[in-house]
Amino acid sequence: LPEYKAVVVGTSGVGKSALTIQMTHQCFVEDHDPTIQDSYWKEVALDNGSGYVLNVLDTAGQDIHKALRNQCLAAGDGVLGVFALDDPSSLDQLQQMRATWNLRHTQPLVLVGNKCDLMTAAGDAHDTATVLAQAWGVPFVETSAKTGQGVEEAFSLLIREIQRV
Ligand code: GDP
Ligand code: MG
Repeated sequence: LPEYKAVVVGTSGVGKSALTIQMTHQCFVEDHDPTIQDSYWKEVALDNGSGYVLNVLDTAGQDIHKALRNQCLAAGDGVLGVFALDDPSSLDQLQQMRATWNLRHTQPLVLVGNKCDLMTAAGDAHDTATVLAQAWGVPFVETSAKTGQGVEEAFSLLIREIQRV
């Protein structure tokens, strides 16, 4: 089976670990240690009988050194850039992080607005993210690691982006 490595990046508290664990283990983790960086994997079967192995590297937000983050990014086939829809500052922080990535310019990226279950109305972060994703030329997905909404879609969009490169 082909194997794809997704790196999950974003500031602390946006739900990187919750998303990773929802994707790979189908459950919602309420209180994951924010300092832990770990990798997870899952075999994904497709309707046409084929499939792939998804490797997910859950990074540790601001707690890790920039050089380490760049190493993680370099090791990945693609990146999920995560912010929390109920926290517009987390989108600013993701933008700042991205400015420091040594991204290979072909490296696939999907912008993920997590915690959509906490959104009351179409908030600022949603509109800003829509514009930003257009400017970056990347897909934008809204997810909830809590309900599972959009989670598989976010990862499968990234795989599709990876397969296009
Ligand atoms: P990380 O630091 O980016 O890895 O964030 P965590 O995965 O540890 O999540 C931070 C907090 O947000 C935890 O209390 C999670 O339970 C909570 N959380 C994560 N994703 C969601 C979500 O989609 N909806 C809600 N309501 N809470 C979430
Ligand atoms: Mg975490």
